Amino acid sequence: MKATHDAWVGLGANLNDPRQQLLRAFEALEALPTTRLVARSPLYLSEPVSDIPQDDYINAVARLKTALEPLHLLDALQDIEQKHGRQRIAGVVNGPRTLDLDLLLYDDRIMDTSRLTLPHPRMTARRFVLQPMADIDPRQRIPGAGTVGALLANAPELRLQRLD
Ligand code: ADP
Ligand code: MG
Repeated sequence: MKATHDAWVGLGANLNDPRQQLLRAFEALEALPTTRLVARSPLYLSEPVSDIPQDDYINAVARLKTALEPLHLLDALQDIEQKHGRQRIAGVVNGPRTLDLDLLLYDDRIMDTSRLTLPHPRMTARRFVLQPMADIDPRQRIPGAGTVGALLANAPELRLQRLD
């Protein structure tokens, strides 16, 4: 298999047995064509970053080696979201969701199109992304922003509890 690209995916869920959603999502990532799941972080319980009252989230990150190009990988992630019965309230931003898969990093690629922004624009200030990334590799660089470890040290406070 020619799986040369390094991709990081952020996982989040807060509906319909979120822990199970994430465990199934890891399996689905592992099953993607020309892709290997090379690392998965611990699961974290985190407080919602939203004005809408909702349950806590389960968050984690996965690191992939893949031959899929970024937009194909995004297609595949959205396909997994759909298969997990993702339900959202139309027009509501940051509302509860059964499964959210965000493409955080793809090599050191920088892009900004209507479908895909890389690096993921909100990852640099989110403890629920940075902490699980740091568990895998705190020296990982985010293009234009520095290392995961340095960003984590400066990220806004957030209630975050490691599960096992
Ligand atoms: P959010 O994750 O911001 O709560 P959604 O998961 O519904 O919202 O994603 C909204 C749109 O964001 C998607 O249609 C997708 O095309 C776009 N998008 C842009 N950049 C990215 C990225 N890096 N990862 C995932 N989706 C992205
Ligand atoms: Mg998303």
